[in-house]
Amino acid sequence: MNVECIQKLRKGHFKITPKRRAILELFDKKDKCLSPEIIWTHLKKTFKQSGFPSVYRNLEIFVKQGILFRVERQGRKRYYALCHDHSGHHHHHIICVECGKADVFPECSFPDIKSVKGYKILNHSMQINGICKDCQ
Ligand SMILES: [Zn+2]
Ligand SMILES: [Zn+2]
Repeated sequence: MNVECIQKLRKGHFKITPKRRAILELFDKKDKCLSPEIIWTHLKKTFKQSGFPSVYRNLEIFVKQGILFRVERQGRKRYYALCHDHSGHHHHHIICVECGKADVFPECSFPDIKSVKGYKILNHSMQINGICKDCQ
C-alpha cells in the first residue's frame, strides 16, 4: 500500500484497517480494474467473515477519497481501478478494453467551457477507451 493511498485515507479520517489494506494491495498487485465480486472472492480467503456489502462500502470510500475511480465497461457490471494521479489536478482516465489496465490521461480537451446550450457547466467526467501496448 503506497504512501499516497495512506495519505488520501487519513485526509478523510478513515482508519487503515487490515481489510482496506488488503483491498488496495490487490489493486496494486493486479494493476487493472476489478469488480467488487473479484475483490470479495479474494478477501474471503483471509477474512472469512467478510460480507459483500462491506467490500462495496470500502470501495465507495476509496472513490470518495480519490484512491479508486469507477470504470465503465461493457455489460452492467461495475468495476473500479486505482487512480495513479496524486497531484489532485483535473484529469481523466484511459482504460484498456482488453485487459482492464487503467492509466491517467492528463490532457483535457474541454479546459474552460463555461456553458453549453444555456446550461451553466459545473464539471465533467470522461473515460477514454483504448487498447494498451501489451494487448495490441
Ligand atoms: Zn491491455
Ligand atoms: Zn477534463
